[in-house]
Amino acid sequence: MPAEVYAELASATAELVRAGGGVSFILDFDGTIAPIVSVPSQARAHPSMALVLKRIASHARLSIISGRSVGFLAEQLAFLREEDGPGHVELYGQYGLIRADLLGNVLATAHLDEEQLAMLDEVRRQWLEAPVDGILFEDKGASLAFHYRNAPEMREPLLNWIDMVLPNHGLSALVGKMVFEIAPESAPSKRAAALGILESGVPCVFAGDDYGDLEVFKTMHEQRLAGEPRVAILVQGGFETPPELLGLSEVHVRDQDELAFVLDQLLRAVLPS
Ligand SMILES: [Mg+2]
Repeated sequence: MPAEVYAELASATAELVRAGGGVSFILDFDGTIAPIVSVPSQARAHPSMALVLKRIASHARLSIISGRSVGFLAEQLAFLREEDGPGHVELYGQYGLIRADLLGNVLATAHLDEEQLAMLDEVRRQWLEAPVDGILFEDKGASLAFHYRNAPEMREPLLNWIDMVLPNHGLSALVGKMVFEIAPESAPSKRAAALGILESGVPCVFAGDDYGDLEVFKTMHEQRLAGEPRVAILVQGGFETPPELLGLSEVHVRDQDELAFVLDQLLRAVLPS
């Protein structure tokens, strides 16, 4: 591991120890817990991450905030069920639209504007009628994802299609790694979910990798500047890492092995010996 990571980790550890009193972890799923794969349904927690997640789940509060459905997250994180203390692990699916426990039991659902959902239905209908070649379509119910990882040359035709079908209000197009996602404007953001978790005075560690995490990185950064104990970790997946995230994070790792090491060290530092 590069020397810079050890230096960043040392200062992050010192900050958490100085704050004292437990730690809360907020993690993204794709590109953070699981390596990015060409077929999204095949994404799985990296083995090193699975080990450290088990330790985190048995000692600290763990929240997963992802664009995925809570059903998918519950299935992929089923190995945590035996470690989970009461209320320790919570899943925030579809950017916080649905909050669930590790069994996938829904605890809360955010409200979506009916008119915007009808607009989304119309976009869905247009796609199914005349899809763009080579694009992997993922219907998440309350949002629609269009993956071009397996056909990068189709990015422009896909963008043109989105321009054509996206109404000028009501729906928004979100950018991710080799994916665009169309969602109602009333849909919650990861930031809103994170704000519900970030308690004043409680040290918090966040790790993410993509544009969808930008607002959480910004919130962590603002709170850190305001003196709250916050550590933001960026998982840099090569050329796809959004440059905006670099200056908003304190620790920079290259992959899941390095992230697992860093999270483990942070957890150990705050646990009573
Ligand atoms: Mg991600």
